[in-house]
Amino acid sequence: MIVVVKRGQDRKQVDNLENWIKSLGLGVHESEGENSLIIGLVGDTSKVDIGLIRSLDIVESVTRVQEPYKNANRKFHPQDTLIDVGGHVFGGKNFQIIAGPCSIESEKQIIEVAEAVQKAGATILRGGAFKPRTSPYSFQGLGVEGLKLLKKAKKETGMPIVTEIMSEERIDDFEDVDILQVGARNMQNFDLLRRLGKLNTPILLKRGIAATIEEWLMSAEYIMSEGNPNVILCERGIRTYETYTRNTLDISAIPVLKERTHLPVIVDPSHASGISRLVKPLSLASVGAGADGLIIEVHNDPVHALCDGAQSLTPLQFEDTVRSIDLMLDAVNKTRDK
Ligand code: PEP
Ligand code: MN
Repeated sequence: MIVVVKRGQDRKQVDNLENWIKSLGLGVHESEGENSLIIGLVGDTSKVDIGLIRSLDIVESVTRVQEPYKNANRKFHPQDTLIDVGGHVFGGKNFQIIAGPCSIESEKQIIEVAEAVQKAGATILRGGAFKPRTSPYSFQGLGVEGLKLLKKAKKETGMPIVTEIMSEERIDDFEDVDILQVGARNMQNFDLLRRLGKLNTPILLKRGIAATIEEWLMSAEYIMSEGNPNVILCERGIRTYETYTRNTLDISAIPVLKERTHLPVIVDPSHASGISRLVKPLSLASVGAGADGLIIEVHNDPVHALCDGAQSLTPLQFEDTVRSIDLMLDAVNKTRDK
């Protein structure tokens, strides 16, 4: 339920209304619009007397929100959420490029790739330390040692870092990580989501392999309802009957999400396609569809990569992709952070 409060109301009266709502066992989500104040009611509102609220002098309108996601709903928060990561902002007219290897393999590798992607225009460095692999016999990542190397690359380049967290038990190892990634396979790991909701660190929430947009937004809701508003959604392709690509990039998810939620939406064209030569066209399509950023896998020696070499760009290919992205950004009136 959404209560729109008339312009210029006495704060005390607004507080009284909010306290009364809270006394009914509901949560309150306040958002200051240009012309009004919006109060979103979170929880079971079926017993709230809508007529009673409507009759209050300070209230302009009251509407029931049908969607099960509340905190993530644009109706609750009409303006775009802006998430600042070390001075680089996600959302609004800003565009961020995250790049780096699928997995951290060695100090030399992560530092070389970090320096190369930074030079080419990436503002945030990615690198997996704990890898969710389909086979238990595949390379599982360097674990804590990998995190140390990633933090070293952060120190050397000044770039904020993003890496995947697979279990809430490991949360202490992820201190100083600027964005915590929840991978596709963990999108519905509700214990993990709830735990991340207790932090203030931005969460990069990837879409589950077979998740609907609504299920995905409900996962964001798990994080936000615990108090962490900093969720960045990442479309990374879904499983379809198509076999020529690793996954199918759901381009329409981008404008659909931009309508339904105020959260920033970025795209991972690397996992969506699984093929390095498709990364550039899918990146351009994502910009055109309104994405707020991209996360792209880059490796200094893709042929020998321990994970996802086939979809990794070389630093030169990445540079070329960024140049084309810049041309597209002009068309959609967004600015890439440099
Ligand atoms: C990744 O980003 O390295 C990754 C494993 O992605 P996803 O969870 O989208 O498969
Ligand atoms: Mn990967």
